[in-house]
Amino acid sequence: MEKRLVIIGGGAGGPSTAAEAKRQDPSLAVTILEAGEFVSYAA
Ligand SMILES: Cc1cc2nc3c(=O)[nH]c(=O)nc-3n(C[C@H](O)[C@H](O)[C@H](O)COP(=O)(O)OP(=O)(O)OC[C@H]3O[C@@H](n4cnc5c(N)ncnc54)[C@H](O)[C@@H]3O)c2cc1C
Repeated sequence: MEKRLVIIGGGAGGPSTAAEAKRQDPSLAVTILEAGEFVSYAA
């Protein structure tokens, strides 16, 4: 079964967490939910 990770918040911490999770498990399906207009792109 597909493993999924949902991250609440696309500020500094959310995309960093998503990137590290994908490094550890590239098959992971990651969704980031951001309430604001923009998502941090640095990570
Ligand atoms: C004025 C100011 C200046 C700063 N300057 C610096 C600096 O120069 N250098 C530095 O290193 N740090 C700086 N910081 C600190 C830095 O911004 C924070 O440490 C960092 O942004 C924290 O990241 P975070 O992901 O925990 O939270 P945030 O960046 O706050 O991200 C949380 C995100 O979650 C979203 N969210 C909240 N609730 C929900 C919800 N229910 N559903 C979906 N999305 C949701 C928010 O919209 C937000 O985008 C500054 C902070 C402030 C306030």
